[in-house]
Amino acid sequence: MTDGSRMHRADAVPADFAAAVFTFARRRVAADTGPGGLPLGEPRSASEITAALGPSITAGGIGADETLRRFVDVLEPACLSVDHPRYLAFVPSAATEIAILGDLVVSACSIYGGSWLEGSGAVWAENEVLAWLAQLAGLPAGAGGCFVSGGTIGNLSALVAARGAATRRIATRPERWAIVSGDAHSSVATAAAVMDADLIAIPGERLTGETLAPVLAEYAGRVAAVVATAGTTNLGVVDDLDSIAEVCAAAGVWLHVDAAYGGAALAAPSARHRFAGIERADSFIVDPHKWLFAPFDCCALLYRDPAGARTTHAQHASYLGILNDGDDWNPSDYAVHLSRRARGLPVWFSLAAHGTAAYTAAIEQCLETARSAARLVEAAPHLELVREPELSIVAFRRRGWSEADYRQWSERLLLSGAGFVVPSADADGPMLRVCIVNPRTTPDDVAAVLTTLA
Ligand SMILES: *Cc1c(COP(=O)(O)O)cnc(C)c1O
Repeated sequence: MTDGSRMHRADAVPADFAAAVFTFARRRVAADTGPGGLPLGEPRSASEITAALGPSITAGGIGADETLRRFVDVLEPACLSVDHPRYLAFVPSAATEIAILGDLVVSACSIYGGSWLEGSGAVWAENEVLAWLAQLAGLPAGAGGCFVSGGTIGNLSALVAARGAATRRIATRPERWAIVSGDAHSSVATAAAVMDADLIAIPGERLTGETLAPVLAEYAGRVAAVVATAGTTNLGVVDDLDSIAEVCAAAGVWLHVDAAYGGAALAAPSARHRFAGIERADSFIVDPHKWLFAPFDCCALLYRDPAGARTTHAQHASYLGILNDGDDWNPSDYAVHLSRRARGLPVWFSLAAHGTAAYTAAIEQCLETARSAARLVEAAPHLELVREPELSIVAFRRRGWSEADYRQWSERLLLSGAGFVVPSADADGPMLRVCIVNPRTTPDDVAAVLTTLA
């Protein structure tokens, strides 16, 4: 006999299950990161995990308690703790406890975040966060956008909107669109490939108006957008936005600023001057899941002219007519998506609860830790600083080491649980970089990692 409502009945959940989930989540979220506390985690091979668990998905189900046990005992330890203070690779993430609890609430409420009709309260709160970001950047009051899953979709959506605006402006479409950038993130190449456009990447660590101008002249009539990066992922360099904006304005070309990692530093007085010119952007993105203390996945996408972006992105169908016919603010209309989680709400919870001054303090602390780390590198005879950090990425070399040396060291460091740093490279060869977006990371954490390089 089948009972199709069995899973949705209140008695489908064992009595203590919710309490067990909350206890686990609370313990994890507030994890003591000191010795013997939150482990860094360790990747496991698929066969190790299979051996530990066997199949979990069966016709009859293994029950809630056993499912949670499998996650807590086997699966979670096989995931790195991205918020661990010694996780310094790639771009880490350190969500506040309130943001994480806010995320839990978002899941509990079954909110559809795509339209004003269905999610007005959530969309209102997301828009309050977007307005704060727009104001930090100095965009005009009419600016707006939405939250998407990450910088990759944010960049793609902005560039598609840029191409839409260019298409509407010109008489004849070029045979192939071009996107012009400096040392842009790999997702910009992906966006160009998805759009079947050419990516013209101008070499050099920092893009300036001077290097951009001749390229725009060469590709005149073909350029859908210029992508400037405010905080490159490898070295944390902020392109010269002011001169770039000047050249874009003169050429009538859309300026997109990719601040996925670095944009948080707009809230930091000690770094704000590096972003001069961002107020002239036609679009920009920042990932709160990177340095604005929100859980994955969360990217804020803002347009100077949201109406134009809406013309490009809004989906049309008979079953959507009721959403599109009015002037409602539908987040779905501003990116390559339709159904969406209200993923900006966790940011709103934390920002509202703690206040913007706490964000400024937390971001400044990361910048300060990065400056201390640079001094530690300079003081170590076996290390060489690649460049003075502009934001919170510190790049350096171990004198005399090959790429293989870096790789072996990185693997040993992770297996020992002492830290997570992976090798990268710049024009001069292999190097290491640490990225500090976790206010719990101290100069001592960095020092402990650097010691292992002696
Ligand atoms: C991380 C990053 C991205 C991609 O963001 P995801 O959220 O990982 O998709 C894009 N641009 C820059 C500059 C980044 O640092």
